[in-house]
Amino acid sequence: MRQTKAYATHAADSPLVPFTFSYRDPGPEEIEIQILYCGICHTDVHQARNEWAGTIYPCVPGHEIVGRVTKAGVRVKKFKPGDLAAVGCMVDSCRGCASCKAGEEQLCDAGPTFTYNSPDKKHGGMTSGGYAEVIVLDEAFALRLSKSLDLAAAAPLLCAGITTYSPLRRWKVGRGQKVGVVGLGGLGHMAVKLATAFGANVVVFTTSPGKTSDALRFGAKEVVVSKNEVEMKRHLTSFDFILDTVAAPHDLNAYLELLKADAALTLVGAPAQPLPVAAFNLILKRRQLAGSLIGGIAETQEMLDFCATHNIVSDIELIPIQKVNEAYDRLVKNDVKYRFVIDMKSLA
Ligand code: NAP
Ligand code: ZN
Ligand code: ZN
Repeated sequence: MRQTKAYATHAADSPLVPFTFSYRDPGPEEIEIQILYCGICHTDVHQARNEWAGTIYPCVPGHEIVGRVTKAGVRVKKFKPGDLAAVGCMVDSCRGCASCKAGEEQLCDAGPTFTYNSPDKKHGGMTSGGYAEVIVLDEAFALRLSKSLDLAAAAPLLCAGITTYSPLRRWKVGRGQKVGVVGLGGLGHMAVKLATAFGANVVVFTTSPGKTSDALRFGAKEVVVSKNEVEMKRHLTSFDFILDTVAAPHDLNAYLELLKADAALTLVGAPAQPLPVAAFNLILKRRQLAGSLIGGIAETQEMLDFCATHNIVSDIELIPIQKVNEAYDRLVKNDVKYRFVIDMKSLA
């Protein structure tokens, strides 16, 4: 066992502070990664502040991890020391249930082992995330990353990228379709870039008129300020698909009525409170309301390879770890363009 420097929070109302924890030597199928960059997902804030309940302290958040392999176990096949490697929201799963066998480990019957704040079924204790110098995990849950991508800007692909790529693929978003993205934050701006790359005509719904020019730069054809009812009504019954990335309570009915018959509104944003739905908004046009959780490991690799081919990364603000609490406050105030990424050199 060795020690790594990290940042952890010790209570829902406490800031993140310097912390050290022990990590194991990699087993035969495991790799050790020196973390170079870690993105800050809104989930980190929900978890650090116990907004979803169930956070076990101390908690080291972080699940948008890019780094370099420093050690590889004897049976490791995909990586050797010196290679780039990336880690997203999961580090293990049961591997035997139907979902795991289908490559959808995020839907594992036993529940996947998430990268942080998750009981580690194999090694005991709780998992610790990417606001640290080092992570050790099974190579089966580590991703390969192309050298061609900007490494810091690629980190958010590991959660914001796959969380939007997966539902866009599942609902077969493609050329000529009219696709809505609700909320232009970390997830939302990736959804706009990806849906545009798939050939869709993207309309962004935002509460922030000041984000209009950025939305158009990311590829959106149109931007609607969602507080403007007249603008909203112009789009009634016209969308093939809408992806909702909003992290706070908001009115789903205003978006359901914009869907065509049989089309889906899929939630990836996860407000802590229940959201009321008018049944008739679903019944009348046989519309669907769905949810989606990150994506499987194979699909995450497919997404990273797609982004390397199409040169798609996140728009980021790189910060030293000492600014993480300020970054959390700004994220909650909707003041980030469009993802904070921690430069892990600052931990040394
Ligand atoms: P984020 O960067 O904070 O973006 C959320 C966006 O929602 C904001 O930029 C804002 O966009 C909009 N928004 C914020 N408050 C709002 C309000 N009161 N009413 C309407 N819109 C509001 O967060 P993120 O990192 O993209 O994460 C978004 C959500 O997805 C979080 O709840 C997170 O936990 C969840 N998440 C889910 C998964 C999954 O697998 N399903 C994975 C990762 C994250 P505008 O300024 O454009 O309005
Ligand atoms: Zn996330
Ligand atoms: Zn499983």
